[in-house]
Amino acid sequence: MALSKEQQERSREILLEKRSSLAKQVERLAKDAAESTEATENSKSPLSSAENASDTYEQDFAFMSMESEEDLLRKVDRALTRIRENTYGTCEECQQAINPERLEALPWATMCVKCQELEERGLRRRSDDLEFEMEDDNEEALIGDDKDRA
Ligand SMILES: [Zn+2]
Repeated sequence: MALSKEQQERSREILLEKRSSLAKQVERLAKDAAESTEATENSKSPLSSAENASDTYEQDFAFMSMESEEDLLRKVDRALTRIRENTYGTCEECQQAINPERLEALPWATMCVKCQELEERGLRRRSDDLEFEMEDDNEEALIGDDKDRA
Protein backbone atom coordinates (compact mmCIF):
# COMPACT_ATOMS: atom_id res chain seq x y z
CA MET A 1 0.00 0.00 0.00
CA ALA A 2 1.60 3.19 -1.20
CA LEU A 3 -0.58 5.47 0.86
CA SER A 4 -0.06 5.99 4.55
CA LYS A 5 -2.97 5.78 6.96
CA GLU A 6 -2.73 9.56 7.41
CA GLN A 7 -2.88 10.24 3.70
CA GLN A 8 -5.87 7.98 3.34
CA GLU A 9 -7.62 9.64 6.25
CA ARG A 10 -6.95 13.07 4.77
CA SER A 11 -8.30 11.99 1.41
CA ARG A 12 -11.38 10.59 3.12
CA GLU A 13 -12.04 13.92 4.82
CA ILE A 14 -11.62 15.84 1.57
CA LEU A 15 -13.89 13.39 -0.22
CA LEU A 16 -16.60 13.55 2.43
CA GLU A 17 -16.51 17.34 2.37
CA LYS A 18 -16.56 17.39 -1.41
CA ARG A 19 -19.41 14.91 -1.41
CA SER A 20 -21.69 16.98 0.82
CA SER A 21 -20.99 20.21 -1.06
CA LEU A 22 -21.56 18.46 -4.40
CA ALA A 23 -24.79 16.88 -3.18
CA LYS A 24 -26.03 20.34 -2.18
CA GLN A 25 -24.97 21.78 -5.52
CA VAL A 26 -26.66 19.02 -7.51
CA GLU A 27 -29.83 19.46 -5.49
CA ARG A 28 -29.80 23.22 -6.00
CA LEU A 29 -29.07 22.91 -9.70
CA ALA A 30 -31.84 20.36 -10.15
CA LYS A 31 -34.23 22.75 -8.43
CA ASP A 32 -33.02 25.69 -10.53
CA ALA A 33 -33.39 23.68 -13.72
CA ALA A 34 -36.90 22.54 -12.78
CA GLU A 35 -37.96 26.07 -11.88
CA SER A 36 -36.45 27.48 -15.03
CA THR A 37 -38.20 24.84 -17.18
CA GLU A 38 -41.46 25.61 -15.45
CA ALA A 39 -40.99 29.32 -16.01
CA THR A 40 -40.29 28.79 -19.71
CA GLU A 41 -43.22 26.45 -20.20
CA ASN A 42 -45.66 28.69 -18.36
CA SER A 43 -44.47 31.90 -19.97
CA LYS A 44 -47.65 32.94 -21.72
CA SER A 45 -47.10 36.43 -20.37
CA PRO A 46 -45.30 38.78 -22.77
CA LEU A 47 -41.58 38.52 -22.10
CA SER A 48 -39.09 40.44 -24.15
CA SER A 49 -37.01 38.31 -26.48
CA ALA A 50 -33.90 39.27 -24.54
CA GLU A 51 -35.39 37.89 -21.35
CA ASN A 52 -36.41 34.72 -23.16
CA ALA A 53 -32.92 34.24 -24.50
CA SER A 54 -31.32 34.64 -21.10
CA ASP A 55 -33.82 32.17 -19.59
CA THR A 56 -32.89 29.57 -22.17
CA TYR A 57 -29.23 30.20 -21.62
CA GLU A 58 -29.50 29.85 -17.86
CA GLN A 59 -31.54 26.68 -18.24
CA ASP A 60 -29.00 25.08 -20.57
CA PHE A 61 -26.21 26.11 -18.29
CA ALA A 62 -27.93 24.64 -15.24
CA PHE A 63 -28.46 21.31 -16.98
CA MET A 64 -24.91 21.28 -18.25
CA SER A 65 -23.27 21.90 -14.89
CA MET A 66 -25.65 19.51 -13.16
CA GLU A 67 -24.39 16.74 -15.40
CA SER A 68 -20.73 17.29 -14.58
CA GLU A 69 -21.41 17.79 -10.85
CA GLU A 70 -23.26 14.48 -10.81
CA ASP A 71 -20.40 12.87 -12.65
CA LEU A 72 -17.95 14.15 -10.06
CA LEU A 73 -20.26 13.07 -7.24
CA ARG A 74 -20.21 9.52 -8.64
CA LYS A 75 -16.40 9.58 -8.73
CA VAL A 76 -16.24 10.85 -5.15
CA ASP A 77 -18.63 8.08 -4.07
CA ARG A 78 -16.55 5.47 -5.82
CA ALA A 79 -13.36 6.72 -4.13
CA LEU A 80 -15.08 6.59 -0.72
CA THR A 81 -16.18 3.02 -1.42
CA ARG A 82 -12.62 2.15 -2.31
CA ILE A 83 -11.41 3.61 1.01
CA ARG A 84 -13.93 1.39 2.82
CA GLU A 85 -12.81 -1.62 0.82
CA ASN A 86 -9.16 -0.77 1.49
CA THR A 87 -8.35 -0.53 -2.20
CA TYR A 88 -8.02 3.25 -2.25
CA GLY A 89 -4.78 4.48 -3.82
CA THR A 90 -4.45 1.58 -6.23
CA CYS A 91 -5.49 1.78 -9.86
CA GLU A 92 -8.74 -0.10 -10.47
CA GLU A 93 -7.44 -1.16 -13.88
CA CYS A 94 -3.83 -2.29 -13.41
CA GLN A 95 -3.80 -2.53 -9.56
CA GLN A 96 -0.61 -0.44 -9.45
CA ALA A 97 -0.27 2.31 -6.85
CA ILE A 98 -1.59 5.66 -8.00
CA ASN A 99 0.93 8.47 -7.63
CA PRO A 100 0.21 10.06 -4.19
CA GLU A 101 0.69 13.51 -5.76
CA ARG A 102 -2.08 12.70 -8.21
CA LEU A 103 -4.33 11.65 -5.33
CA GLU A 104 -3.58 14.84 -3.49
CA ALA A 105 -4.64 16.89 -6.49
CA LEU A 106 -7.50 14.54 -7.41
CA PRO A 107 -8.58 12.55 -4.32
CA TRP A 108 -11.37 10.92 -6.33
CA ALA A 109 -9.01 9.46 -8.94
CA THR A 110 -9.50 5.69 -9.13
CA MET A 111 -7.12 5.06 -12.02
CA CYS A 112 -3.47 5.85 -12.59
CA VAL A 113 -2.60 8.44 -15.21
CA LYS A 114 -1.67 5.77 -17.75
CA CYS A 115 -4.92 3.81 -17.48
CA GLN A 116 -6.95 7.00 -17.39
CA GLU A 117 -5.37 8.05 -20.67
CA LEU A 118 -5.91 4.62 -22.19
CA GLU A 119 -9.54 4.64 -21.18
CA GLU A 120 -10.11 8.09 -22.60
CA ARG A 121 -8.51 7.04 -25.88
CA GLY A 122 -10.30 3.69 -25.81
CA LEU A 123 -13.67 5.37 -25.45
CA ARG A 124 -13.00 7.47 -28.50
CA ARG A 125 -11.87 4.47 -30.56
CA ARG A 126 -14.43 1.86 -29.57
CA SER A 127 -16.63 2.11 -32.70
CA ASP A 128 -13.57 1.84 -34.97
CA ASP A 129 -12.44 -1.33 -33.18
CA LEU A 130 -15.80 -2.96 -33.84
CA GLU A 131 -15.50 -2.19 -37.53
CA PHE A 132 -12.03 -3.71 -37.64
CA GLU A 133 -13.26 -6.90 -36.02
CA MET A 134 -16.02 -7.22 -38.58
CA GLU A 135 -13.59 -6.69 -41.42
CA ASP A 136 -11.26 -9.37 -40.04
CA ASP A 137 -14.10 -11.87 -39.84
CA ASN A 138 -15.06 -11.19 -43.44
CA GLU A 139 -11.50 -11.64 -44.59
CA GLU A 140 -11.19 -15.00 -42.83
CA ALA A 141 -14.43 -16.14 -44.37
CA LEU A 142 -13.17 -15.21 -47.82
CA ILE A 143 -9.85 -17.00 -47.31
CA GLY A 144 -11.74 -20.06 -46.11
CA ASP A 145 -13.89 -20.03 -49.25
CA ASP A 146 -10.79 -19.81 -51.46
CA LYS A 147 -9.19 -22.77 -49.71
CA ASP A 148 -12.36 -24.83 -50.07
CA ARG A 149 -12.51 -24.05 -53.78
CA ALA A 150 -8.84 -24.84 -54.43
ZN1 LIG B 1 -3.47 1.79 -13.99
